[in-house]
Amino acid sequence: MQRKKIISILMTAMIALSILSGCAGKQAPGTGSTAEADVDKGAELKIHYHANNKYTIVDANGKLQPVFEKVQADTGYKLTNVANPVATDSAQEFQLQAAEQFTADIYGGNSLSQEFMKYGMQGGFVALNDLIDKHAPNLKKFLNEHPEVKKSITAADGKIYYIPYVPDGGVARTYFLRTDWLKDLGLEMPKTVEELEKVLVAFKEKDPNKNGKADEIPYFNDKWQEAIRLANLWGARVYGSDNYDVRTVLDKNDKMYHAWISPDFKEALKNMAAWYKKGLIDPEFVTRKANTARQTLLTKENRGGMTHEWVASTSGYNENAELLKAIPNFKFEGMLPPSSSKGPGFEEHQRMVVKPDGWAISSQSKHQVAAIKFMDYFFTEAGRRLANFGVEGQTYDMKDGKPVFKTEALTAAGGTNKYLWETQGAQMPIGYWQDYNYEDQWTNAIGRDAVKKYMDAKVIINNPTPVLNFNQQEKATYDKLNNPLNTYLDEQVQKMIMGLIDVESGWDAYVAEAKKLGADDIVKIYQSAYDRYKSVK
Ligand code: CA
Repeated sequence: MQRKKIISILMTAMIALSILSGCAGKQAPGTGSTAEADVDKGAELKIHYHANNKYTIVDANGKLQPVFEKVQADTGYKLTNVANPVATDSAQEFQLQAAEQFTADIYGGNSLSQEFMKYGMQGGFVALNDLIDKHAPNLKKFLNEHPEVKKSITAADGKIYYIPYVPDGGVARTYFLRTDWLKDLGLEMPKTVEELEKVLVAFKEKDPNKNGKADEIPYFNDKWQEAIRLANLWGARVYGSDNYDVRTVLDKNDKMYHAWISPDFKEALKNMAAWYKKGLIDPEFVTRKANTARQTLLTKENRGGMTHEWVASTSGYNENAELLKAIPNFKFEGMLPPSSSKGPGFEEHQRMVVKPDGWAISSQSKHQVAAIKFMDYFFTEAGRRLANFGVEGQTYDMKDGKPVFKTEALTAAGGTNKYLWETQGAQMPIGYWQDYNYEDQWTNAIGRDAVKKYMDAKVIINNPTPVLNFNQQEKATYDKLNNPLNTYLDEQVQKMIMGLIDVESGWDAYVAEAKKLGADDIVKIYQSAYDRYKSVK
């Protein structure tokens, strides 16, 4: 009896001790009560954020951008920039930090998702799941309400290592057609690919720019990669997502296949080669400097007839003063994807569920609770508005409960985005949820009409390739194969469109070489990552 009692007393004491040490000891972050969360109150957060080769949380003089001044005031955390605001290579800045083993609290920038997950799985960044659960109610709610976002940022080991930039809005690119030319030529808006071809031939032959020369370029793009997407007109898929490197797409049975070696792509290429031969596709589509075609062929030369491009910026040409001075009747309007013998027209392009941008928390950070709360702030209503619109009273005013940009923001030289990035620190690719309303405010009536047409007709495909996260082995294979494969596909497909390789007779050799370069292995990697993606709860 005596012995039992002693043991019992000892055990009670041990339990008490362990409870005591649990309270008094330095706890792992994310495990505590409200009182422990206050441990980080007023903490200094050192932030290494460098995006798009120029943006940090400070201006060139080292002063916090207005958005981050406001976050500092609202959260009570002292924000200290530790990135070099005059460095011009964001990726390199990040790698330098990796070599230093991430000594600051928060790391962020663009195109870093793979890096966040790689270093996260190696222990360089904290798995955020528990921190979000316990200290980030707004982020937690957002991820619960957007399971596709949660799946997209869950690494191969099942953990979340970064908070992403989440785009908003449905249609981003649509077809645009010179409807002033259409009217002049007495033609109707085309509804089928055959009707469209007739319109483009008329653009080519009937001199709609009225200069007496057959110099019109019926179809053009700002980037040659986008021109390949013309294959959609004949029912073939081209890209899985808003990323020209993703050519593995989902079929009707939810299985991955490589779009660029698929038989329907072959048929589409034959049609594109025929269009190229007839002069319907920009003869300089490969050699033209990227991002100059719209400016050159619309504003400067009045030769372009049709494109497939970003809605807000493309519809903006309708209000371009320089252009309207030269072409008073200019009208470039949205056109629904035409149907073909393969079925109804569809829009393949859409914004990605998450961008590979955002931020992560270093394992070395002593203020992980503060860091996740700082990130959580951007998912509050006030924080989201701040990241999207800037500071109230400076860039926008509230009208009828909605933020409305001031004229200065809407008419800023270089555009609204540049103004927000450079003078405010808003709309930067940090971990936040974009609000399409910000873009809608500088999209004109023609752009809005194009978006509405696409939304009403429900032409956007519902099975884009999700953002997939490869495990170490998959990533190694992908890194080895994908670039050489895509480089080969690019060259061959360009040549087939330009008639330098005959599609019919060259196809089998093209597919064989693509397989030799790993096309099937790439599909396998996507399939296994996709299976894992679907299993995330
Ligand atoms: Ca002409």
